[in-house]
Amino acid sequence: MATEAAGSGNGAPDDVLLSVQSLTKHFPVRGGILLRTIAHVHAADEVSFDIKRGETFGLVGESGCGKTTVGRTILRIYPPTSGQILFGGEDVSKLDRKVLARNMQIIFQDPYGSLDPRITVGGIIGEGLEVHGMGSPEERNEQIREIMDIVGISSHYAQRYPHEFSGGQRQRIGIARALVLRPQFLVCDEPVSALDVSIQSQILNLLRDLQGEFGLTYLFIAHNLAVVRYVCDRVAVMYLGKIVEQANTPELFGNAIHPYTRALMDAIPVPDPSEQRERLIIPGELPSPTNPPQGCRFNTRCAVAHDVCFNEEPPLRDYGDGHLVACHLADDFDRRGTALPQLSSEMHDAITDSVQSSTTD
Ligand code: SF4
Repeated sequence: MATEAAGSGNGAPDDVLLSVQSLTKHFPVRGGILLRTIAHVHAADEVSFDIKRGETFGLVGESGCGKTTVGRTILRIYPPTSGQILFGGEDVSKLDRKVLARNMQIIFQDPYGSLDPRITVGGIIGEGLEVHGMGSPEERNEQIREIMDIVGISSHYAQRYPHEFSGGQRQRIGIARALVLRPQFLVCDEPVSALDVSIQSQILNLLRDLQGEFGLTYLFIAHNLAVVRYVCDRVAVMYLGKIVEQANTPELFGNAIHPYTRALMDAIPVPDPSEQRERLIIPGELPSPTNPPQGCRFNTRCAVAHDVCFNEEPPLRDYGDGHLVACHLADDFDRRGTALPQLSSEMHDAITDSVQSSTTD
């Protein structure tokens, strides 16, 4: 039997590094001659999760589901509309910006646009050290050389400019920039989606090695489920600003319950054209986040929606071992077991194969 998912509360256990509690972020939409606020984009609504020290926590979903907004609000790039974020038990909104930057950093999706083309890579990597007044110029240069070597870029290239590097090398520079202040926590915002598949594997393996070496904690934002399965310990699935399902990675990929999660899994291509399988297709487009549907936000696209789905918002409930699901009919799926197609063993193998082939150096 499901139980209501408990909020994190201020008494988060010691092993929790980051606690996001009922985080809501709405962006105003302005219009008319006076540019008055005429609507709000509901980018994230009542989002809650904890990330343990040393863990990789994945946030997945379609474009526009709010996952990047959550990551950037955690880092105070955007101020939250409401809710609380605790980092090591401290309220992030009250932390000094320099303390925040030293402890929490971001790796951006676009390795081309995220590096200033007018500054040498040594200057880009060392900017944080300079801003924070850390060390003498000689000590800073030594730290820059050291971090460049760690991420696999020869420190001899410190005086070169970003356009002289490939996409994968630029992403390594972005990682070096994020790591030079020795943060505890990194938001990895689609860090490999702009890269070639062969380069993706190198960057993913680098992130994994760095996590082991520096004890890093990651929030990993992605839409590629194969990548998420490879790198994440636990995963939350977002739809239209809400978390609809959350579980540890083997449980989510082996026993997804929410119809949206199952449809995402079914959309993973199988590298065998002869294979026939039943697929759960999501019809229609993502509704406008300025006017999300009443009740369950997935009701306009859900093949098994019921009357209650249009009137009441489903709470996020715990179906055991921290497997959280927000769906009125999740109990029925559990009992019937076959209400929606289960992931086949072939599907598991296909995901595994696709990950392995994309992560072979
Ligand atoms: Fe579908 Fe209803 Fe469950 Fe929403 S609550 S996912 S509409 S069955």
